[in-house]
Amino acid sequence: MEIFKQIAPLKAFLKSKKLAGKTVGLVPTMGALHEGHLTLIRASQNENDITVATIYVNPTQFNNPKDLLKYPRLLDKDTELLQEVQCDVLFCPADEEMYPEKSILTINFGPLNEVMEGKFRPGHFSGVALIVGKLFNIIEPDRAYFGQKDWQQFAVITRLVKELKYNLQLRSVPTLREPNGLALSSRNLRLTSEQRAKASVFHKALQEANINLLSGKSSSDVKRLVARSFYNDPEVRLEYFELADSENLNVVENVSASVRPIMCIAGYVGEVRLIDNMFLGENVAVSRV
Ligand code: AMP
Repeated sequence: MEIFKQIAPLKAFLKSKKLAGKTVGLVPTMGALHEGHLTLIRASQNENDITVATIYVNPTQFNNPKDLLKYPRLLDKDTELLQEVQCDVLFCPADEEMYPEKSILTINFGPLNEVMEGKFRPGHFSGVALIVGKLFNIIEPDRAYFGQKDWQQFAVITRLVKELKYNLQLRSVPTLREPNGLALSSRNLRLTSEQRAKASVFHKALQEANINLLSGKSSSDVKRLVARSFYNDPEVRLEYFELADSENLNVVENVSASVRPIMCIAGYVGEVRLIDNMFLGENVAVSRV
């Protein structure tokens, strides 16, 4: 695996490959890699000649400085994992390379960043768009791979690509889960084993909401039921549960009003913030580790 910390040699390397007709897939990550990240790598390897994984904990997308400070950083172990799965290129820049001067650009996605993650993490998607836009410009991939777990992020990046006319294809990869349904996440490293067990409440709430919505319960009744499943344990806290249109992220009151509704959930186990989602009627049994 070729490892680059600087933009110029990475660009030169990729240019030579592209001139030889090779296609490039990009998998952006913040490291602390797990099997979920590796499914993205494999998806890219299936469709491209060269797969570039990036590891960069992007400061501009953290609205909570404590969260940025506590974000797990495991570059040596991550490098080994990427070598094991035969990833072709790792780009792991330092802050000075990605932000040589303090960024003053913000990107506003209007209604897409006024709901859910955007509402609870002000400025988050501006930071995401900034770093993903930089990576698209540096790497110029043919395809870029993102996890369904961060669906709102995918919706925002889809819009970024469309409006700025990036010449690439986006792929969304299904969420990989622990056997108890908990979505794999780098943040799970900060949970005790007891908290990991408790964290399955998010996926269970989505499954129950799925059944209740499909059986005709109103979205407001389902919201109340979801909130109730968080009452019993003070360590587990619901931040939001929303039923939204998966494309424009508008809140959906009536399931028949959207072509493809998605249920999105976020909250805390102890101090750790977790998110998850499920398309209405989705069969999630297929993507477990
Ligand atoms: P992160 O390192 O958390 O920024 O994630 C990097 C990419 O991996 C994002 O596109 C995530 O959506 C994706 N990802 C994170 N967790 C999972 C998972 N459990 N299954 C599949 N993809 C995931």
